Amino acid sequence: MVTTTLIPHSRPYLGQREIAAVSEVIESQEVGQGFRVARFEQSMADYLGLLGGVAVSSGTAALHMALLALGVSEGNEVVMPSYVCAAPWIATTHIGAVPKIVDIDPSTFGIDVEQVKAAITGKTRAIIVPHLFGCSADLAPLQALKIPIIEDCAQTLGAMYHGQPVGSYGHATICSFYATKLLCTGEGGMVLSNNARTVETLHMLREYDEKQFLYPKSFNYKMTDLQAALGLCQLERFPDSLMRRATIAHRYLSELAHLPVGLPFIPQDRTHIFYRFVLKISHPIDESIQRLEGKGIQCRRPVYQPLHRYLGLRGFPHSDHVFSTALSIPIHPSLTDEDVDRIITILQEEFT
Ligand SMILES: *Cc1c(COP(=O)(O)O)cnc(C)c1O
Repeated sequence: MVTTTLIPHSRPYLGQREIAAVSEVIESQEVGQGFRVARFEQSMADYLGLLGGVAVSSGTAALHMALLALGVSEGNEVVMPSYVCAAPWIATTHIGAVPKIVDIDPSTFGIDVEQVKAAITGKTRAIIVPHLFGCSADLAPLQALKIPIIEDCAQTLGAMYHGQPVGSYGHATICSFYATKLLCTGEGGMVLSNNARTVETLHMLREYDEKQFLYPKSFNYKMTDLQAALGLCQLERFPDSLMRRATIAHRYLSELAHLPVGLPFIPQDRTHIFYRFVLKISHPIDESIQRLEGKGIQCRRPVYQPLHRYLGLRGFPHSDHVFSTALSIPIHPSLTDEDVDRIITILQEEFT
């Protein structure tokens, strides 16, 4: 009898190298924040072509610190899209600032530039720009607004926008190294910047102890060397993992092309690294997810719930539409060719 196991929606890409690296940290007994964290920060900064980075405990912590480092404070406004996880909203409200939520461009799932313009007031201090699923939001017209941009690269690293790395455009850039993200350290995050003063401020905010003064906004947001050792391995393997994602995406793009589903759109001025492979379907989404799971493929809504729906706000037609049509299928680098065959066959059955 053939037993088929469920193909998970996402899975970390961890192996012997990571086991050896973490063991080495344990043997060294230096498990707190040490030289490996500093090395990971420099490697990430080099990867993005930025001056420096400050590793922290999560992507949400990174957003919080980025807002503080840009001087956002109580009563200020921060513009962000509705179609994103809860982290930008939480980080903003955590410091008493006011989230101004706007709709998205449904073709790229990025924040809508015209909507951003309409949301700007005299109190606007920052725009949080998530790059969803592996493709950049439209950065150039946002830069022209002359308001500090925080690039949220939790889902997009290694992609290009106008020939330059995504993550190298903002006043600050944040990453997440959560278990299911592109680089995995279990939990973890980083804020990066090209501005020396911003990097200095971030260092001050992350550590509370053994300082000349008491800084009321500082906290303990540190990453450990155990995590940084993982991060360094993951970054080393990142080109391979991106190549594997590209190979799988290429198969999906060609072998699902004849189905009546919307495939990912890649604007000419950008590249896509396929953190997620998101189809737009016309079938009821929850039923499709359930049926596909019954057939052994775990699919997901790629965003759990848009912010405006949590908050009971109206007037977000694109976020609503995408919420009810977007289906994320497995595309992690641990998928075997046989897994990909099976996923394609089952999607063809489901949607023909
Ligand atoms: C995951 C994620 C975050 C938050 O990162 P955590 O490490 O889970 O706190 C923020 N923004 C986006 C777009 C994400 O996908």
